[in-house]
Amino acid sequence: MQSYTKENLEEIRQRINDIAIKSGRDSSSIKLLAVSKGFPVKIILEAYNCGQRCFGENRVQELESKASLLPKDIEWHLIGHLQGNKAVKAIEYASWIHSVDSETLLHRLDRLAQEKNKIPKILLEVNISGEENKYGLTPEAVEACARTAKACQNLKFVGLMTMAPYNVDEKQLSEIFSKLRMLRDNLEEKLEIQLQELSMGMSSDYPIAIAEGATIVRIGTAIFGNRLIRN
Ligand SMILES: *Cc1c(COP(=O)(O)O)cnc(C)c1O
Repeated sequence: MQSYTKENLEEIRQRINDIAIKSGRDSSSIKLLAVSKGFPVKIILEAYNCGQRCFGENRVQELESKASLLPKDIEWHLIGHLQGNKAVKAIEYASWIHSVDSETLLHRLDRLAQEKNKIPKILLEVNISGEENKYGLTPEAVEACARTAKACQNLKFVGLMTMAPYNVDEKQLSEIFSKLRMLRDNLEEKLEIQLQELSMGMSSDYPIAIAEGATIVRIGTAIFGNRLIRN
């Protein structure tokens, strides 16, 4: 099968650059995270050979098996829901965890990070849209969790993450992304911390997310094509 990984990556990088300029932003402040879940190591290597170094997986087991086969200079991001019993592997393989959504999980990650002598970067996942089938904290619950995250000595709390629904229009998407940004701004002021990262935007909506301040866009399909299994 013909692969378009290289062409897709180049096109997306170009688009990120164009939108950044249009939005008055510096494109070097926007990280392209290639979401490789559901794709084999061979395809990931194609992207790696085009200079891509940041990859995202949503399952710890899949992350572990890929990370142990692939070059060590890859920066792995865990973006899927994390169960407490998988936290130790998550700490071992991911230097970023985007999907932290409880104080219990924060305490566990903090303890494990200390044991493993690591300082992972973590983001709190927020369910802005209020969809029932989504993980993440309600906007109201974020502040308490953020205070705990700030106090965790072995975690580096860097920002917030959200997933927008699929079935909404552009205006609603802008609103969701700008709400995450305002929530972040608010926390920075209240907690007197810097939260640089806003992980928001996927294949279908990343241009809108960048216009609203995304610093990490999580893109799978637009780079690698359609996954056989949706996960
Ligand atoms: C799968 C996934 C993505 C990427 O989705 P695409 O539509 O393939 O770009 C981004 N974020 C999370 C949390 C995901 O699970």
